[in-house]
Amino acid sequence: MKTEFRKQQKSSSRFLLFWMKRFSAAAFLVALPLFAGANLLDEYKSGIVWPEPPVIQPGEGSAPPSDAIVLFDGKDLSQWEGGENWLIEDGVATVQKSGITSKQSFGDCQLHLEFATPSEVKGSGQGRGNSGVYLMQHYEVQILDSFENETYFDGQCASIYKQSPPIVNVCRKPGEWQTYDIIFTAPRFAEDGKVLKPAYVTVLQNGVLVQNHFELQGGTFWDAPPHYEKHADKLPINLQNHGNPMRFRNIWIRENVQSPVGTMPEGQDQGDKKPE
Ligand code: MG
Repeated sequence: MKTEFRKQQKSSSRFLLFWMKRFSAAAFLVALPLFAGANLLDEYKSGIVWPEPPVIQPGEGSAPPSDAIVLFDGKDLSQWEGGENWLIEDGVATVQKSGITSKQSFGDCQLHLEFATPSEVKGSGQGRGNSGVYLMQHYEVQILDSFENETYFDGQCASIYKQSPPIVNVCRKPGEWQTYDIIFTAPRFAEDGKVLKPAYVTVLQNGVLVQNHFELQGGTFWDAPPHYEKHADKLPINLQNHGNPMRFRNIWIRENVQSPVGTMPEGQDQGDKKPE
């Protein structure tokens, strides 16, 4: 009798185990896609209603992008005060007599220009192939023939004059065309002249990073330490005459250079929105 009872008990245990195993497997298979689905539902979205980035056309080859303001396309220097003083030949403008100043004023910007130092090497140090790009007429990105030409490092080509030597010297040989791509953030001043935000500059020379978001200490001066002097939100660009026949071509500038972050309408900034 007892043995019969044990047999029955053993058999029901096996039966239970059999179905428990199958139930666990089925539960796992059902739960798997649910977990996967839960991950999808958890995707992070900022919830910020961004303005659509404007569509622009990149230039073919070295041509400017479609939203650029062309400051010199090889034909004339009508966009510049003093442009009549320079020689224009074969699409190239050569420094003569004076510097030139853009008629239009700019603040934050992306500036592209191409330059060549004289192929006939004359002079040395700061006297060899010297010019410069003055952003807002205050902040000089040095242009110099720094191909095997010694000078002080914070005055060589691609330096922020007397403030920051270039990260590397990537100068081409005298006479060869070189490019500057400059990204500049203008300083912000309070009414009383206090600096609210300093200026920043990033420079690529021949496609290579030579200044990386450098914080300017103020205007660049030959005879004084850098310092800020309150000025307008936008000012012209100068190309320097330093007595050398420097050549320029393909100069263009873009003004739409700030990310929409920080320019959103009230209530749309990241602090006010929760992820949806
Ligand atoms: Mg200079």
